[in-house]
Formats: sequence, C-alpha cells, structure tokens
Amino acid sequence: MAELLELIDVECRYNGRAAVSALDLHVTTGSLVSLLGPSGSGKTTVLRAIAGFHPLSAGAILIQGKRASIPGYTLPPEQRRLGMVFQDCALFPHLNVSDNIAFGLRRMTHANKRDLVRELLTTVGLDGMENRYPHELSGGQQQRVALARALAPRPDLILMDEPFSNLDVDMREHVSSEVRNILKRQGTTAVLVTHDQSEAFALADKVGVLREGKLLQWDTPYNLYHEPACTFVADFIGKGVFLNGTLVTPDTVRTELGVCKGNRAYPWGKDAPIEVLFRPDDIVSDPDGPLRAQVTQKAFKGAEILYTLRLPTGGQVLSLFPSHVDHPVGATVGIRVEADHLVVFPRNQNR
Ligand code: ADP
Repeated sequence: MAELLELIDVECRYNGRAAVSALDLHVTTGSLVSLLGPSGSGKTTVLRAIAGFHPLSAGAILIQGKRASIPGYTLPPEQRRLGMVFQDCALFPHLNVSDNIAFGLRRMTHANKRDLVRELLTTVGLDGMENRYPHELSGGQQQRVALARALAPRPDLILMDEPFSNLDVDMREHVSSEVRNILKRQGTTAVLVTHDQSEAFALADKVGVLREGKLLQWDTPYNLYHEPACTFVADFIGKGVFLNGTLVTPDTVRTELGVCKGNRAYPWGKDAPIEVLFRPDDIVSDPDGPLRAQVTQKAFKGAEILYTLRLPTGGQVLSLFPSHVDHPVGATVGIRVEADHLVVFPRNQNR
C-alpha cells in the first residue's frame, strides 16, 4: 500500500535540546494511527513537525512521497493539504454550523458550498443542524462540526491533537469510534495524538507509544496489550501487576502464583530472574482453585468487579470477577491463573 506519510530518523529540538529523536513512522494511505504517551513525551512536537510548524534538526518528513521537511527546509503548513482538529475545537462562536464548516473554502460558489456542507453534516451525523450556533451543541456535536470543517477542503491527511479531551470520559470512547467510522468511510488518513489509551484504541489501526521523544513500540492495539515490547509499554497500557519469578524451563515460570506455562520459549537460562505481567483477566475466580487470596479493594465495573487481592506470600494482583461473584473487602477468595500466554521480561529491566 502507498505510504502517505513517512517520518525518517526525525529529530526536533528546542533550544538545542532534542525533544524527539531517531523517530521512524510510516503511515499508509487510508490508515488511522495514534501517537500515545505521557505528558512531555514529544507527541505534540511530532504533530507540529508533520504539520510544518516545527523544523527538523535531522531526518526527513515525506508527504505523498515528496519532501515536506528536512533540516533547513520546511514546506509551509498551508501547502501540505492537511486538516487539523484540536482539543479546544475552536469553532467560531458568532458563526453558525454551516458557516463554521465552510469557513476555509475559497473559490467555490455559494450553491456548491451549501451542498458540500449538507453532505459533510450527513457524514458526521448532524443533518439539519446548519443553522445552530456552537453554544447550542453538545461537546460531542461541536467536535463533529470541527471534524467536518477539517474535512471540508478534502485534505490528504487529518491531524488531531487530544481532540476529545474536553469530553466526558464516557463520551470520549464513543466519539472516538464514531470519528473512526467517519474517517474510514471517507478513506481519510489521520494521525491522532493523545495520552488516553481508550481514545487511541477506539480510533487507531496502529498506535505508537512514545517516551522521552523516542518511539518504543509501533503496533496494533491488540499487540500493545498482549505483546508489549518493554516494561514501560506493559505498565502504560492497560492494567496489571508484575510479579518477580524465575524460569523453570524455557517456557515455564515460577512466581507467587505458582508454576505457569507460557506460549513460547524465553531466551534466558534456567533460574533466570524474571518479571511476569499478570493482567486482571489472567486471574479468574475459582472457589476450588489452587490459590487463596484476600480482597483488599474492589471496584464495580458493571458486568465485572475488579478486585485487588493480596496473596499469602505478600504480593498483590488484580482480578476481574463476574459481577455476581460479590465478595466484601477482607474476604478470602479462591483463584486460579488462566493466561493463554505470558508476558515475561528479564528482571530489573530499566523502567
Ligand atoms: P507531549 O505532547 O507529549 O506532552 P511535547 O511535544 O509538548 O510533549 O513536549 C516534548 C518535550 O519538549 C517536553 O520535554 C517539553 O518540555 C519540551 N517542549 C515542548 N515545547 C517546548 C517549547 N516551546 N520550548 C522548550 N521546550 C519545549
């Protein structure tokens, strides 16, 4: 598949200090990708470099195979055929929905503009709202108008910087997956930066995890969760705890939870000190199970309850029980490990 956007060995600096370094990223036409990382990891800098607002101190950015940025040359943002959607959504309060969407359209007849606005409103599910003003719309609706405005000039690429962070947590995932459907229908390529993994996972085909300006893993949401490349990604994505252990055989580990078999041979010798990641769904309720643990905390999640459990040996694990299996804090419960594969790292890997 053709690559719409390529970042090759990109470095960006502020006052001589690298904020992003050795970054490689390849985005195929029509795909939706996300850069995910904690605050200060360099996400916005990368997005600004793609948009042409930040120069490169090394490497290159290609858009449609053409050099858009290299050290000493930055193609201006308005010549990059980009659409942008930002956190504060920045609709013009004194313009109605229709005029907000049509704002950036030039060289178009009034009738053509009107037809395009109608079509975009249908695309984003806001039929008939042309004459409303921003203050008459919900946060999610405003965000969809901002998206329609970004899509109006038919850009090759949409860039989104934390576009849903002003929405309620409950709405965020819903609006992200709605936006995903809209972009997929249009065949638009998009890059989303966010610190919120549920937003990234709901929208993107591929996610890059950034830390201190470096890309740690570039993968599908499924693989980031199930096959994290390092302890930082394992910690950052999803919930779970690490338990110390040792290798018993190449594919079997011993921890406080007993001996568990993984799905592959690990490359360290017998008795090697390791850490094993246990996700809450790896530990299940089993009254007749081989292990006993004490409930120290519980959080109701609807269909499930997330329990924090203390093992007799002192370690803590998280476990999801079906919601009808309700135990008070302090109760002793039976559990067993049910992991179809194990995420194992050598112990004391730098976090
Ligand atoms: P994120 O978007 O992941 O929060 P940023 O790209 O904003 O991260 O920042 C990456 C790093 O660059 C941080 O260490 C930040 O302090 C630094 N930085 C960002 N903007 C500036 C600036 N205008 N001047 C100096 N340093 C900056």
